[in-house]
Amino acid sequence: MSDTRFDDVRMRGFLRRADVDTVLTLLDARTSALPGEPVPLSEAAGRVLALVVTSNVDVPAFARAAMDGYAVCAADTADATPTAPRALTLVGESLPARPFSGEVKAGQAVRITTGAPVPLGADAVLMAELAELEAADRVAARAPVVSGKHIVRVAEDVARGSVVLPSGRRLRPQDVGLLASIGTATVTAVRRPRVAILVTGHEVLPPGAVPEGHKIVDSNSPMLAALAARDGASVLPVRYVRDDPAAVREALVTAAQQAEVILCSGGTSVGTEDHAPRAAAELGELAVHGVALRPAGPLGIAFLPAPGARRDASEPPTLPVVLFLLPGNPVSCLCAYDLFAGRVVRRLGGRSWELPYRTRALPLARDVPSTVGRVDYVRVKVEGNEVVPLGTGGASNLSTAVAADGFVLVPAALGHLTQGENVTVWLYDA
Ligand code: AMP
Ligand code: MG
Repeated sequence: MSDTRFDDVRMRGFLRRADVDTVLTLLDARTSALPGEPVPLSEAAGRVLALVVTSNVDVPAFARAAMDGYAVCAADTADATPTAPRALTLVGESLPARPFSGEVKAGQAVRITTGAPVPLGADAVLMAELAELEAADRVAARAPVVSGKHIVRVAEDVARGSVVLPSGRRLRPQDVGLLASIGTATVTAVRRPRVAILVTGHEVLPPGAVPEGHKIVDSNSPMLAALAARDGASVLPVRYVRDDPAAVREALVTAAQQAEVILCSGGTSVGTEDHAPRAAAELGELAVHGVALRPAGPLGIAFLPAPGARRDASEPPTLPVVLFLLPGNPVSCLCAYDLFAGRVVRRLGGRSWELPYRTRALPLARDVPSTVGRVDYVRVKVEGNEVVPLGTGGASNLSTAVAADGFVLVPAALGHLTQGENVTVWLYDA
């Protein structure tokens, strides 16, 4: 909504709060993955493929031995036993990248090592353990082998023209190994979203400082930087911004030129020093201010115009920069990131919209009070096989989130959760 409809809530309180689900629907509709960029294979692990990868080659491109032994014609060994071995004439050797140049005929064998090309005419590899070298030119098969035994067939691993990895795949170490095997030097990966972190508050000192007098140390930026990095972002250096309308505005303008997502900590509530919502409404569209969520009620979300508007209609429209006005209370800040900002960071980077936390369904040890119409983010501990709530208040006490194993969400439709009922716990640790 434009600034003409800006509703200044300062010293009045939020009149309307958006539902959590409505906010999620809005963010879902307004965000999509960034375009791809070339990434060298050595830096591709952990990145998300923007395009499907198909192979231009067969792997292996030649039939190769899977064992050390002798390349033979399987039929020759059909009746071989330890007591009645079958003698074969040894006619040469095949080593990796140094193949035997001739052809193996009936009654012949070629010494071969793992990975070496299987010579023409041979259709099986007899393991060294099942053969006995009797003379420089004679080997005895002491057991039969069937056709195809211990041979890796052409294209057995990867067939030319086949899909090796789908788009959207987050590359695992073995993925980059397989990509190397088909001759890949670079992949097209979804660009990592750049995340700008702004910290407001006269009272806030940067991390590393010792809290003194009436000043406190910024907990939010280190936490947000770690969360955004976990979610695949490229995190820009943190900027500290004075609680002053012009300074907040200038910081937002600069950040919108540098990043796809802005996380602005503090100054989003109803205090006289809370300048960020008005600045956001003037610079773009303040789509949300106030969410029916505890403890992140003052959350604001705005869309700011991205730099470099498109030159012609053939170019895709530039997506707006998503600005999150995060409450300064550290637990509120964590909650708002977990439920909203994190999803957007991951979405832009081609990752999952879902929360990156493992879940468990366990019974609740105590009632959890809430209010119909509001979602509660409740820090909990898992003790034995029960979920123990650590309290919904105390949004300024980050130690509650540190003590917690995870969180439970009380749905908006419920006025409370009841002792004994099964609830879903989102576990902070993987
Ligand atoms: P605000 O959202 O700016 O109204 O701040 C709400 C509360 O969070 C106040 O008690 C602030 O002092 C505190 N706070 C604001 N920013 C931070 C921060 N970066 N780290 C820790 N606490 C903060
Ligand atoms: Mg403040």
